[in-house]
Amino acid sequence: MAEAAAIKNILDPALVLGFSNLREMRTVGPHRIAAGHGIYVTDTDGKDYIEGASCFYCSALGFSEEELVEAAVRQFRELPFYSSGLHRAVPAVMELAEKLRDLTPIKNAKIALGATGSEANDFLLKFVRAADRMTGRSGRWKVISRLRSYHGGTLATASMTGVPESHAQFGLPLPGFLHTHQPDYFNMALPGEDEAAFTARMLGDLRDLIEREGPETIACMVAEPVSLSAGLVPPPEGYWAGLQALLAEYGIRLFADEVITGFGRTGPMFGSETYGIDPECITLAKAMSGAYLPVSAVVMAPDFYDALELASDEAGGFTHAGTYAGHPVCAAVALRTIELFEERDILGHVARIAPRFAAGLAAFADHPLVGDTRSVGLCGAVEFVAAKAPRRAPQPEGILSKKFAAFAKDRGLIVRMPYNSVCLAPPLVITESEIDEMCARFGRALHDLE
Ligand code: PLP
Repeated sequence: MAEAAAIKNILDPALVLGFSNLREMRTVGPHRIAAGHGIYVTDTDGKDYIEGASCFYCSALGFSEEELVEAAVRQFRELPFYSSGLHRAVPAVMELAEKLRDLTPIKNAKIALGATGSEANDFLLKFVRAADRMTGRSGRWKVISRLRSYHGGTLATASMTGVPESHAQFGLPLPGFLHTHQPDYFNMALPGEDEAAFTARMLGDLRDLIEREGPETIACMVAEPVSLSAGLVPPPEGYWAGLQALLAEYGIRLFADEVITGFGRTGPMFGSETYGIDPECITLAKAMSGAYLPVSAVVMAPDFYDALELASDEAGGFTHAGTYAGHPVCAAVALRTIELFEERDILGHVARIAPRFAAGLAAFADHPLVGDTRSVGLCGAVEFVAAKAPRRAPQPEGILSKKFAAFAKDRGLIVRMPYNSVCLAPPLVITESEIDEMCARFGRALHDLE
């Protein structure tokens, strides 16, 4: 009887699962993950998997970090919950903001907290309206982002997400959300076009978009330093410098969505440092608490914040808050996460093992179905093609990467598969021998694909 109930739960779960085929969930049910240890997770059948993508690119310290559990328990015992707002704040939450101010590349930043990456991005899109209004830029209400990049699940952040298929289901994007190219040299370069020329073409298209829409109507551009949701598309030569110069020319603010790239994923602490980007605001989430609890941040440059303060003066107070914007237990866990990054020199560890990770992926480049391999820090991608020659032989979008992911699962490896790529971004604490094991499992799945 109990077993029948359990099976019913698998096949027709009450839970609605994101990014899943909902009808399939009625008949097949979700893959149930019940436990975790280090870089491994275990399903309810007792099978172990290397979490090659840190779940949603977030579990930086693996799945069994006792220090984070203890930090949560300590804060739970002291003060399990209190909102920071209404002129009151919890010390652990204030301390987290101080820590982030010291850490992020924006000097003397001010920090607003949230619970999720979507919330941080959404808050920022709201804040920029106030900042623009107070700085004589009221006509600027539009937002540019890049196709294929994911920025969240709320109305505004899903609109900012550059995935037309996701928009179609929900009647999005909302008005004012504009999308420019993902600068995917591998797939979009014209025959004979070198990277510099490709970059010039991408930026030329962006300039056309800005001119068409009216620069005076555009508030900001939001972009990830490098986009894993788009398949880890590396910025082509001159891209970031050119992009920043172009936006500056038109007075368009640049915000970096570092929800994934923050906290060592690309090697340095922030992706903005990896790629020499100088954003006015940065959003953070995911690895900030090792993903053990939901907490996110909007990091704002002083001038930007000053404008918010003016808006607050005008309204008689800052009319913004979130009950869980800086939950004390989440903040305590985030603080401990950042301390562990420092105590254990996680960035040094990433720097030491990244070459082995890169070499492991590069070894697949000769496979007949692999068109490209690439990596930065501890994120990498293997891109499939239907045939090597011509290099970009067309294949139905995502067919091989989806097939590969199923083979990889059989081989005990969980990956993400954006478009025709398979992305790996293991927990940052992965060891050299675990990288070898992950690549061995990857190789066996690749063999199955032939
Ligand atoms: N921004 C980026 C780059 C993301 O990858 C994600 C989530 O995957 C988000 C924002 C949204 O974060 P969350 O899912 O925590 O709302």
